[in-house]
Amino acid sequence: MKCCDGGEFSQGNLNRYGNIELSPSAGILNYGQGVFEGLKAYRREDERVLLFRPEENAKRLKKGAERMCMPSPTIEQFVNAVKETAIANKRWVPPPGKGSMYIRPLLMGTGNVLGIGPAPEYTFIIYSSPVNSYHNHEGGLNLVVEDKLYRAVTSGTGGVKAVTNYAPIYKAKIDAKAKGYADVVFLDAATGNYIEEGSTSNIFIVKDNIIATPPTNGTILPGITRKSIIEIALDSGYQVTERAVSLEELLDADEVFLTGTAVVLNPIASVTVPYKGIRTEYRTGAETVSQKLYETLTGIQSGRIEDTKGWTVEIE
Ligand code: PMP
Repeated sequence: MKCCDGGEFSQGNLNRYGNIELSPSAGILNYGQGVFEGLKAYRREDERVLLFRPEENAKRLKKGAERMCMPSPTIEQFVNAVKETAIANKRWVPPPGKGSMYIRPLLMGTGNVLGIGPAPEYTFIIYSSPVNSYHNHEGGLNLVVEDKLYRAVTSGTGGVKAVTNYAPIYKAKIDAKAKGYADVVFLDAATGNYIEEGSTSNIFIVKDNIIATPPTNGTILPGITRKSIIEIALDSGYQVTERAVSLEELLDADEVFLTGTAVVLNPIASVTVPYKGIRTEYRTGAETVSQKLYETLTGIQSGRIEDTKGWTVEIE
């Protein structure tokens, strides 16, 4: 799908996966003018294929496009294009329990710009790939707290899914992996005292059965899984608060978990704070709050539990 001066996107085509042509002075290449989304298609036992809350991705892309001074497809254009892509690739959606099909919408400035400024042409493309289930709820993941490299600054672009948000986390994530950690816990850049999120996931703590997660006030991505888990937890009778969560509280929690389209809901086995010489272990496995929330979320996503919220969208 392409758009120029008028700000309206035209209908696009379905093409085989392949390279695209870009001018060397395209806005995306030089200044990172781009936002993207990630969502998944799940196959049910009865072979029907479901998307999870694609309208939420459409709305978030729109917000991101505004922040990055780009026009965006309408919500309807976005959802229809995602559906069309999912239908065309339906045979690649893995069987239930064996993974899902990840769908990646990407909006970018493809027009030529030499100075900082909006590109005169924009392209919206969607591609997809089958992915394995990332979930490790038996053992849980081991995380490390990063105190030198920050993901997002106040009034920056951390609250939208800008392509450039991922550049600052490369080094932290690669270094963490090299040391055997699954991911990094980023702290707020303003004080360094509060936890923000993982590299591609939101973070929750559970203490005495009360759930808390940092607020999405500009430096944290408003995750769609985060929003869904908050709703599921409230429906299940848990108290949930969106508030600043200090590093001390993280270390004192009973359970910690990450949420995101890729990780779904993944319990955390331990958090290490190298600069304090501390490693804390958490409860994981059966009978935990995170396990109950995981069961409900994946039940709805896979059609195992009736979707009374209208979150799932069947393709075709
Ligand atoms: N934070 C960041 C930085 C992310 O990249 C993601 C993945 N989109 C999330 C949180 C989780 O968001 P969602 O649940 O919408 O996938």
